[in-house]
Amino acid sequence: MAEHETTVRDILKRIREDEIAFVDLKFVDLFGGLHHIAFPSHALDESSFVRGINFDGSSVRGFQAISESDLLLKPDPRSVFRDPFFDDPALSLFCDILDPDGYRPYTRDPRGVAQRAERLIRSIGMADAASFGVEMEFYVFDDVRFEQSTRYGFYFIDSADGQNGDARPGRGHRPSRGNAYFAAPPLDTSHNLRGKISQLMEVAGLTPEMNHHEVGGAGQNEIGFHHATLRQAADNAVKFKYVVKNTAHRYGKTATFMPKPLLEEAGSGMHTNVSLWQGGKNRFYEAGRYGDLSAFATHFIGGVLKHAPAVCAFSAPTTNSYRRLVPGYEAPIILVYSQRNRSACIRVPFTGANANAKRIEFRTPDPSCNPYLSLAAILLAGVDGVRHEITPPAPVDENIYEFATSEHGRLLQATPGSLAQSLDALEDDYEFLIRDGVFTEDLIDAWLRIKREKEIEYLGFRPHPTEFELYFDA
Ligand code: GLU
Ligand code: MG
Repeated sequence: MAEHETTVRDILKRIREDEIAFVDLKFVDLFGGLHHIAFPSHALDESSFVRGINFDGSSVRGFQAISESDLLLKPDPRSVFRDPFFDDPALSLFCDILDPDGYRPYTRDPRGVAQRAERLIRSIGMADAASFGVEMEFYVFDDVRFEQSTRYGFYFIDSADGQNGDARPGRGHRPSRGNAYFAAPPLDTSHNLRGKISQLMEVAGLTPEMNHHEVGGAGQNEIGFHHATLRQAADNAVKFKYVVKNTAHRYGKTATFMPKPLLEEAGSGMHTNVSLWQGGKNRFYEAGRYGDLSAFATHFIGGVLKHAPAVCAFSAPTTNSYRRLVPGYEAPIILVYSQRNRSACIRVPFTGANANAKRIEFRTPDPSCNPYLSLAAILLAGVDGVRHEITPPAPVDENIYEFATSEHGRLLQATPGSLAQSLDALEDDYEFLIRDGVFTEDLIDAWLRIKREKEIEYLGFRPHPTEFELYFDA
């Protein structure tokens, strides 16, 4: 059933007809972490869906202070899906978050931001819909341990699939580092796991596309799934991570979307494909221009590249993101666009004369992002580019890592080198996010404060193993 047709009545009917035992309400916190609360299905009636369910917002990362903790979860019937990870039949729904004071959208609800971004492009007559296709890479490991205490700190990763740190007896079929793109079994040990994940994705209402081993030798994987409009694409990204992690867990493995878990191996990206549609037409397509991109699309790119340092605060939002955004490893670090080059931040995939497939691929985001906020920030940066007819730097089709050190290339901007720099960029450049009330100032303040205190400072206080290598003999 098409998502928009589902109503509360349909859900109550489905609960009866499919003998659903549990209804699970899901939402993400400010940083994209998934939370849920389950109810025996008989405990919910029509009014639970309409009025919403109370919860303690002060116990959720990035939400409320203890003195004003009450918030409401309002299930969105359009988002209903069969949850494959309950032993008994269960339906899950993503929820909007409301402030019970006035029953208003909660200022830090990421899903609310995504929905306001979608409404904005319609209300200003720019497009009926923004289509987003996200490509989320991840690693599958067999054993992960880490700890830091006063006297020691370490991490240890083992993967049946690679050479990194693998001291176990083996049969020798292991891809060498960085050489595992489309590797076949027995080098690829995850193909049956990816097959199982793809099947459970379908149970949960996603449409899987291809799946393959990725470049990273020690267990890097990718499974494509169908694009959707912004809010639904973000729901799907959250759901995808849920299915991947839980399926791996069931099969005795562990999956991570951390952007750069392994030194000297490829990082995991979340390449974000975008196109804007009006009256059934793709506004990004115009045959004969560079990359068959319309002037509209070129301005959209201009906006994304101009605001990219600020957008990175949401799209590459962890300290670990910047260990991925380094030269090599196909990491997109130069703020240009290109038809060919995978080191450009924006690639224009070759799609021939197919107007419907024309899109841009923003390669900088990674899957540690909160997808609702990342996709909304990308859209708003592009909208700003269209509004102000921002011309991007000329496209570059040469090897960008080499080009970047040439005279012309030195003028090109790079992505921020750290989360601290991205947050500074956001602090200086967030008018395009709040001017139409899509992001709230309250959300941006909380984001800057919590990221700085709880992540950058937290990490900064900690001695690092490599410091012992560098300085112990000081
Ligand atoms: N893993 C690379 C990244 O960090 C991308 C590889 C690819 O082009 O799929 O973005
Ligand atoms: Mg990939």
